[in-house]
Amino acid sequence: MTKKNAAASHNHSGFVHVRGAREHNLKNVDLDIPRDALVVFTGVSGSGKSSLAFGTLYAEAQRRYLESVSPYARRLFNQMAVPEVDKIDGLPPAVALQQQRGAPTTRSSVGSVTTLSNLLRMLYSRAGDYPANQPIIYAEAFSPNTPEGACPKCHGLGKIYDVTESSMVPDDSLTIRERAIAAWPTAWGGQNQRDILVTLGFNVDIPWRELPQIDRDWILFTEEQPVVPVYAGFTPEETQRALKRKMEPSYMGTFTSARRHVFHTFTHTQSALMKKRVAQFMLSTACPVCEGKRLRRESLSVKFAGLDITEFSRLPLKRLAEILQPYAAGSAKALKKLETEHPEKATVTKLIAEDLASRLEVLLDLGLGYLNLERSTPTLSPGELQRLRLATQLHSNLFGVVYVLDEPSAGLHPADKEALISALGVLKNSGNSLFIVEHDLDVIRHADWLVDVGPGAGENGGEILYSGPIAGLKQIEASQTRQYLFSPENKLKARPRKPSGWLTLKDVSRNNLHKLKVQFPLGIFTTVTGVSGSGKSSLVSQVLVELVAEHLGHVMPVEEEETDALEQSVLPQTGGQITGGMENIKRLVRVDQKPIGRTPRSNMATYTGLFDNVRKIFAETREAKKRHYDAGRFSFNVAKGRCEHCLGEGFVMVELLFLPSVYSPCPTCHGTRYNAKTLEITYRDKNIAEVLHLTVDEAWEFFEEEPQIQRALTVLREVGLGYLRLGQSATELSGGEAQRIKLATELQKQQRGNSLYILDEPTTGLHPSDVEKLMTQLDSLVEAGNTVIVVEHDMRVVANSDWVIDIGPGAGEEGGKIVAEGTPAEVAKANDSKTAFYLKRFFS
Ligand code: ADP
Ligand code: ADP
Ligand code: ZN
Ligand code: ZN
Repeated sequence: MTKKNAAASHNHSGFVHVRGAREHNLKNVDLDIPRDALVVFTGVSGSGKSSLAFGTLYAEAQRRYLESVSPYARRLFNQMAVPEVDKIDGLPPAVALQQQRGAPTTRSSVGSVTTLSNLLRMLYSRAGDYPANQPIIYAEAFSPNTPEGACPKCHGLGKIYDVTESSMVPDDSLTIRERAIAAWPTAWGGQNQRDILVTLGFNVDIPWRELPQIDRDWILFTEEQPVVPVYAGFTPEETQRALKRKMEPSYMGTFTSARRHVFHTFTHTQSALMKKRVAQFMLSTACPVCEGKRLRRESLSVKFAGLDITEFSRLPLKRLAEILQPYAAGSAKALKKLETEHPEKATVTKLIAEDLASRLEVLLDLGLGYLNLERSTPTLSPGELQRLRLATQLHSNLFGVVYVLDEPSAGLHPADKEALISALGVLKNSGNSLFIVEHDLDVIRHADWLVDVGPGAGENGGEILYSGPIAGLKQIEASQTRQYLFSPENKLKARPRKPSGWLTLKDVSRNNLHKLKVQFPLGIFTTVTGVSGSGKSSLVSQVLVELVAEHLGHVMPVEEEETDALEQSVLPQTGGQITGGMENIKRLVRVDQKPIGRTPRSNMATYTGLFDNVRKIFAETREAKKRHYDAGRFSFNVAKGRCEHCLGEGFVMVELLFLPSVYSPCPTCHGTRYNAKTLEITYRDKNIAEVLHLTVDEAWEFFEEEPQIQRALTVLREVGLGYLRLGQSATELSGGEAQRIKLATELQKQQRGNSLYILDEPTTGLHPSDVEKLMTQLDSLVEAGNTVIVVEHDMRVVANSDWVIDIGPGAGEEGGKIVAEGTPAEVAKANDSKTAFYLKRFFS
């Protein structure tokens, strides 16, 4: 759309008027923003952009919508709090395309999110080639999630799970007492089963393999659950004697075979960890009936373009589009033949193919052609998921709504960004408004209207510095966005550093990487680049991390939130070997944007370890000593010192009939989380709750006599988090804030050097001025003798790194190769690299 058009549409549709917005750090601000325009919200991280766009505008639109539906329906929504704002006029209904960090709660696939799977089932049902004499089947019969479609053998899972003797008893030289049956519960539960076997007369003190097969099978596989007397602590002989004499047992125990235990725990446990533990004893094999295709035979016998629906769904979207195109255009040979034989079927085929092809086109435009319909959404990055949802909206034919988006450029190479910008244009031109929180200068430059929030973060922000067409920002001196938007690219730092050695890998295989040979320089700062889907994360965040961790003997932390333990246990194993360079790596550190905790029980102070020292200081005060209060007394997670009414949460949940439950401050401790006795102890006139309420900047002055605490606080200030409160709960932190807290936690540790730091898109959510701070931190890590490897799209960061590894040339199977490597200046000259084009401007 041209500038002139944009201006004209403003005149047409008027403005949204916001008065007295006070959500989070917003300082009672007024604002007028145009409808039917692309409005971008800018400002440093923590300045209040999201509080305005999501916390105020979107929340209010949603609240109004919910008021119009029944109370029952209201409960089904994950309702946001009522925003702190006096008045908003002229607000259209809103659709939020927010990025969900962490694991999405519902499982779905690319096909279901985009609704393409539904259309495809329709295509197969109505336009598929049926074997002679097979009647037409309904679309539902092409879904493995329906009884009509699911393979009867595997119930639509595609896999059959089983346990075997060797999966449950990995070492058959052990005795039962020595826990030969690894699949049984650990600790007491396993001991209980062993005691039951003693009562039943099995020998638990000879190697497993010496037991008769019939006994082994019964112990492992029986469905029987005998209840028998257990004599805890008795030897087998004593037990037999006790049984003969009919002595009173310690208790009656119920036997559970190892298989029963594994399957029962797997299907019923609430704990992801338990699930993961038992999943390791289960083997999965492709279902022999459907060959892993999840559907019943009749459904699989229907073909389109020679493929069954599962085969079709596993092709990259780009291939699907190529196959469907001739049907949509009416030029396919098969279609010509159909026109003469079954004209009405030909019409239907063409119609569905047209619809599918046009939806696919949008996905390809957004750079997602490498995905396939079966890909499950938890394996997608937040940016990929947001673009999928965006593409779906482009086809919804809604108009007059406002779309609120959160950094849609996240995860996009500059080459992918252009398509995104044009997709946003399509939504706008169909008569919608777009409110976008964004840091990317290319996207910002396309805005019709800019709202700059600042000047700083937290309490130092929350004001509207500017609201108007872009050019006007030039006059606003307080704006930190201004200097990046209007000045030419910043100067490059000094010459690239030289590596101190090389970490070499061979035969790297994972996703689209096949037997790749790679070398990462040590002791310097490397960026890994490439279009979205080219294989950067597969290489760095998956293979490199796993191989190095394995080499160092790290146990990979178990992720509590992993949704499907079983899927995890059968993931394709990483292929590859480290062939050299590990002698110089002593430690591996990953700094990601995952939340630092999911409950208000963890916060910045607890995560960084700062709180331990603060509690010690409180325990050392004269009054605390007199009362024998130790450091534990000052934790809101420990019974001694916390408020017993809210158990240290600071708030209580109030259930309202017919309305969503609300949280309100605890009436006993008034939100302080502590009991009155604990709050009587003060250090320099503040009690522990008041200290948790200080910002990092305030705390830095308050603790001037405590060098250890001050050092930790200094690092937090250096990464730009001086505005955060010590007790700000983990659930209220943005991904960028969480990442910087992790980084600060690392930086405050003694610098030993020889660590490998791996970061995946650390600039997501960061304003250019925050990116500079991050770069300074990363540089200081390198100066201290460490290696830093970063997956990155921000070309300013890439240009300022010491070494670049460019993956590509395309996405999916068209990528996965190393296209160029070298200093940024060298890669900028590479021929087949899409990155080179965008890197060039820094070196001319
Ligand atoms: P931005 O989007 O500009 O990065 P935010 O609007 O997310 O900034 O945050 C503005 C301020 O509000 C920050 O100080 C942030 O820590 C704080 N904040 C964000 N979410 C919450 C919340 N749920 N409760 C309290 N404070 C919050
Ligand atoms: P990048 O980080 O460059 O965006 P990725 O490494 O995420 O690229 O993806 C490379 C290829 O591997 C893509 O084709 C992607 O669809 C595929 N892929 C990535 N993760 C998974 C996964 N968990 N399951 C299946 N395919 C995956
Ligand atoms: Zn099956
Ligand atoms: Zn309380």
